[in-house]
Amino acid sequence: MPNIIEVKNLTYAYPRTDKPALKDISFQVPEGQFLAVIGPTGAGKSTLCYCFNGAVPRLFGGEMSGSVVVAGLDTYENEIPVMAQHVGLVVQNARNQLFNVNVQGEIAFGCENLGMPRQKILQNLHETLTFVGLQGYETRQPSALSGGQQQRVAIACVLAMEPDVLVLDEPTSELDPMGSEQVMDVINRLNRGLGKTVILVSHDTEFIAQYADRILVINDGMLILDGTPREVFSQAGLLASNRIRPPQVSQLSFELRQRGSPISDIPISIDEAVLLYKGLHHG
Ligand code: ADP
Repeated sequence: MPNIIEVKNLTYAYPRTDKPALKDISFQVPEGQFLAVIGPTGAGKSTLCYCFNGAVPRLFGGEMSGSVVVAGLDTYENEIPVMAQHVGLVVQNARNQLFNVNVQGEIAFGCENLGMPRQKILQNLHETLTFVGLQGYETRQPSALSGGQQQRVAIACVLAMEPDVLVLDEPTSELDPMGSEQVMDVINRLNRGLGKTVILVSHDTEFIAQYADRILVINDGMLILDGTPREVFSQAGLLASNRIRPPQVSQLSFELRQRGSPISDIPISIDEAVLLYKGLHHG
């Protein structure tokens, strides 16, 4: 697959700060990949998200060097509305930023800003609401919906603009388990069903282990590790030193191994753990 995102030697400092929030980051994302970004609070994950649509540095100001190219467009040379046709960003706490009187107004707003024809907007409104499981909610007031429903409206808003890439910054951090599960199901279908490239910032390492193709570990503005969930979650020391909680099944296996259990591979899912421990039990 060709690369849809190319980040090269990206360094960025917010205005009036002396320490860069991102330091010399380089990576590429092939079209259709599900990429997770993990790291402790303050690592630079949100800042990285803002780089994909050019909000960093266009909206935030500050000093940027290196380059970010999405769908062949350099974010330094293209305005945010141009980038928005290719990159949909669901910012942290997006659900708290819904401001329209009803769901359809909320979803139509971004499309209207892109100058999309009326008929197309109505079609996308219908399709995206169905996709996120909220068909029939057109005239509902966003503030009266549950947290999970609001977050799905926020996702529908960017999806209706037909981006190639969806960037989601901690979309389930404030949701109850049921709301989280529904949002994660939508995110998974964006990637597997619609073939969208997905970049997800999340602390939900169980979900990431199950669905992401690849993980970037960020700490202190630097790219610490770039690998598959298996490569990343098998490194207990590295995860601990970067204050990242591994999936619980992996954690259990680290601890059993420390206590002398002959575990060679670290499982990253329940199914893998069952196979591994069955083998140990019968072996
Ligand atoms: P994360 O999303 O991993 O928690 P952030 O990208 O929010 O990290 O923050 C990275 C660093 O940039 C932190 O040191 C944070 O304090 C700083 N930072 C974030 N937003 C701003 C801002 N608007 N102005 C100045 N510094 C900021």
